[in-house]
Amino acid sequence: MSICLPSRILEQAKGRPIRHVVSVSGGKDSTATYLLALEKTGGDFDAVFADTGNEHKETYEYVARLHERTGGPKVQTVKADFSRELARKRAYLQYGKATSRAVNPWTEERVRDVLAAGLAPSGVPFLDLCRMMGFFPRRNHAFCSRFLKRLVLHEQAHEPLINAGFHVISWQGIRAEEFRRRSCYPMWELSPDSESMTIYRPLMGWSLENVDSIHWRHDLKLNPLYGMGFSRVGCMPCIQSNKRDIRLISRLFPEHIAKIHKWERIVRTSSRSGQATFFHQDTTGSDIPADIDEVVRWSMTRRGGHQFDMLAYTAPPTSYAGGLCE
Ligand code: SF4
Repeated sequence: MSICLPSRILEQAKGRPIRHVVSVSGGKDSTATYLLALEKTGGDFDAVFADTGNEHKETYEYVARLHERTGGPKVQTVKADFSRELARKRAYLQYGKATSRAVNPWTEERVRDVLAAGLAPSGVPFLDLCRMMGFFPRRNHAFCSRFLKRLVLHEQAHEPLINAGFHVISWQGIRAEEFRRRSCYPMWELSPDSESMTIYRPLMGWSLENVDSIHWRHDLKLNPLYGMGFSRVGCMPCIQSNKRDIRLISRLFPEHIAKIHKWERIVRTSSRSGQATFFHQDTTGSDIPADIDEVVRWSMTRRGGHQFDMLAYTAPPTSYAGGLCE
């Protein structure tokens, strides 16, 4: 099987050789995209994983071994680094720019506290990004996805190929059925990041059954996190995690809750207000921002968070919500 490129894409390529790059996250749709690329190109493509530093070890393992299990190319890992941005923030605070700015100036006290706590990079992209910003991403302002995935993939995976003379086809595993908000995305689109890159979303018309069957065809199991009951694979937790996933994380992987507890404390020490919570206050419907412990308590409740949910607390993990049990 081979891939037939639309004539307008070939025109955009202006005679440059084509290089296919598949973004892999460890989730079922991006893995299906990787498998489809394997079928269509015979393995002649690059696969890249953007490590946010907030993934589960099962995901790291799944992505690292994908090539062994499928015969496809090894997935390269790319990772954002915010050392320079943190150094700039330190200078901004040290030289009085933060306290003298016209809008929302910092107080001297907050500047002192942030400098005392230090802004040395931790090497964990998600955490360092939030320390740089002074707050966590929000559902309606998910800058994590932009800075930890889209930009880093472009800078570290696509741009070197473009600079080497290729026209890049960037494969993205988005299904219209899964993401109603993105269901109007075109299958082919010229990238906003470069005229030498085209975005390709081959799964737009795919159903869950199609995703299931390509895994079966390659005798490839899903990321084990699905089998543990998670509805989605991505950051652990994701800022968009639903109540059920938060409850599962707290029961199965309390170390990830402890990590967020620690991150909330660290990001508070880097913020202008001294406030920062991983989840938005709308998550629990509370008037005051809820820290991770509060969100976990809320995840054990039902009826708007007022009644403790015994069933949720005692039930064992269920099978994968999408019906793709391993
Ligand atoms: S998976 Fe969630 S938390 Fe992670 S980068 Fe994407 S939106 Fe942000």
